[in-house]
Amino acid sequence: MLLEGKKAIVTGGSRGIGRAIAIKLAQSGADVAVNYNSNANLAEEVVKEIKSFGRESFSVKADVSDYAQAEEMIKIVEAKFNGVDILVNNAGITKDALLIKMKEDEWEDVISANLKSVFNCTKAVSRLMMKKRQGRIINISSVVGVIGNAGQGNYAASKAGIIGFAKTTARELGIRGITVNVVAPGYIQTDMTDKLSDGMREQLLTQIPLKKLGSTEDVANLVGFLASDEAAYITGQVIHVDGGMVML
Ligand code: NAP
Repeated sequence: MLLEGKKAIVTGGSRGIGRAIAIKLAQSGADVAVNYNSNANLAEEVVKEIKSFGRESFSVKADVSDYAQAEEMIKIVEAKFNGVDILVNNAGITKDALLIKMKEDEWEDVISANLKSVFNCTKAVSRLMMKKRQGRIINISSVVGVIGNAGQGNYAASKAGIIGFAKTTARELGIRGITVNVVAPGYIQTDMTDKLSDGMREQLLTQIPLKKLGSTEDVANLVGFLASDEAAYITGQVIHVDGGMVML
């Protein structure tokens, strides 16, 4: 039980990678608040599953791209759990288009949901973690933020922005015992990648040495480790979970 007694919040914990992370943290002993934006039922299912193995959990609705809502969410979690030890910034969306076709609102929506949300939640939680002189902040970026991807200028910029922001906060918060790291998944089997055509999927597999898409658990396992005391001397790092797709 690497996370016994820890209190965690996972943004976008109702589906996909966030769901697997919420469950992994709870299986490791943490109590977990499950954030969602639109689908309360799915979030409640995750809460139910977490409770079934004896941890505390509740769902909290907040559009994390909005600072006031993110701050309120952190306040609610702090009040219910009497602290927050682990923040996983996972919520994210895609609105793909080639540059010449991308609309201003497609750019703004993705930057807000994926990058501004990370600023919002990190800022709101850092005050609590600084007071406690401990904390773990884990941000879900993407290999696309490292190597780019045609048709995803907004998404790639948001995911690259997360990396710069995380490295900066790792430098600022390290003195208070807070680590900040980035997990960069490759292609993981979720609703987000269900949108890929068979042709695109075949093409992708040619670029992945392990010849398959990742599972949500593959990502969650790394997050569980980074949230634990075993990762106490790791900060400011970008770690890929991508089947070897991107080797730097
Ligand atoms: P997903 O299945 O589409 O789930 C997205 C989650 O984010 C949902 O729980 C959704 O909640 C939540 N969310 C979206 N916008 C939100 C907002 N403004 N406020 C609060 N919650 C919000 O996505 P996924 O594939 O699991 O991806 C999770 C993260 O991993 C994302 O950051 C994504 O960019 C990243 N990632 C995914 C892959 C992949 O291959 N799947 C690869 C690299 C990186 P509601 O349903 O309630 O709106």
